[in-house]
Amino acid sequence: MAPRYIVSSRDASLQWPRVPSGEAATVLALHAQNERSQWLAEETLWTRQLVQLRTLLAHCQATVPYYRDRLTDCFEENSPLDRSRWEAVPILTRRALQENFDALKSEVPPASHGATSAMQSSGSTGTPVRFMNSRITTYFYYANNLRHYRWHEYDPAARYAGIVRLNAAQQKLSEAGKPVPWMMGYATGPHFYFDIGRPVSEQLAWLQEVQPQYLTTYPSNLRNLLDHCNQGSLPFLRAITTMSEVLNDETRAACEATLGVPVQDIYSAQEIGIAALQCPSDGGYHVMSESVLPEILDEAGMPCAPGEVGRVIATPLQNFITPLIRYELGDFAEVGEPCACGRGLPTVRRFLGRVRNILVLPSGEKIWPSFGSRGLTAIAPIRQHQLVQKTRTDLEAHLVVERTLTKDEEAQLTAHLTARLPEMMHLRFVYVDAISRGPGGKFEDFVSDVVDP
Ligand SMILES: [Zn+2]
Repeated sequence: MAPRYIVSSRDASLQWPRVPSGEAATVLALHAQNERSQWLAEETLWTRQLVQLRTLLAHCQATVPYYRDRLTDCFEENSPLDRSRWEAVPILTRRALQENFDALKSEVPPASHGATSAMQSSGSTGTPVRFMNSRITTYFYYANNLRHYRWHEYDPAARYAGIVRLNAAQQKLSEAGKPVPWMMGYATGPHFYFDIGRPVSEQLAWLQEVQPQYLTTYPSNLRNLLDHCNQGSLPFLRAITTMSEVLNDETRAACEATLGVPVQDIYSAQEIGIAALQCPSDGGYHVMSESVLPEILDEAGMPCAPGEVGRVIATPLQNFITPLIRYELGDFAEVGEPCACGRGLPTVRRFLGRVRNILVLPSGEKIWPSFGSRGLTAIAPIRQHQLVQKTRTDLEAHLVVERTLTKDEEAQLTAHLTARLPEMMHLRFVYVDAISRGPGGKFEDFVSDVVDP
């Protein structure tokens, strides 16, 4: 039976029908529109996006110094926007955002967009980008998060746990029974948060204490948890949401096999909000066309066809404070086929991580490798691991181990890892005390030191 979503009413005097107040009403109004727009044809969604994009470009040209002279070829007053004009809009690189933060701020941000806040996102290089957002962009974040809950039929009255990097708001919210902002339109059960920096043993003890039905965490942390769980551990869980890092098929399958619960992934970035959610009836992702226009481009800058992998650029449709037009996120993704579920929201088959997660084979071919991390921990007592490409022919396996490994274990590990490489490479073991999370608290299984892959 589908769970009941009960609108949060402004006070106890309004029991039926229930009357939401201010921000809750806004999120519910967005959600109601999203419920309809998801079924529009892809071409219709694009036409609607063009109307919003044109409004955004006009705002940029009029009020954003960086864009004053950059849009003249692609945007004309009194004429509509079309695909070729849109594709002539220059791409905004991370470096350009870093270097032009002030020039990218609107001199006349719309008052209707509410309070603005300064945001920061750490890139793959560790050099942070700064930008601003508004309450409007936050409402779209909440509405998309609500869509995730509804698509996967999460019970809003259940207990929720997040093992994430905690911000101040989540610290406060961790008191049981508080409603959470992203469900502000509906009455919710208690939400609890725990710091992802704590050891796995503490995380598991905390989960046993809190007994949540739903857990949100990062894929790398989920994998660590699974390594310390047996079948039937955490029997109270119904589903797990992952975010912030690339979720691979292996972790997904391991979760289903060990805990017996599905994993539903969210693709998001600070700069663009929630950009894609997993389809409830298919394994792929749907793009959140109401709040963001992602484009997946090949090396020549042309849109990729289904099955092709390209770099992701994205335009958040409602950021009128620091508009990010065709912003290059640094991630790669594979375009999906139209989804059998009937939703017109465009699809992405999978997200693949960043440039530094590309392995360049000796032949020059590029792949996003998967090293079967569950298999590694089955061979030897490995606490943490990370594969690092040093040159086109050399790989290092950085390992944190519970004790010195035997020669036989090293030989088995070598066989396990090299079997996953389509070409021969040299492998060397490097034993380290700890492997820290990368920029922004993200953990990567594989990183390449090869410059300009
Ligand atoms: Zn679908």
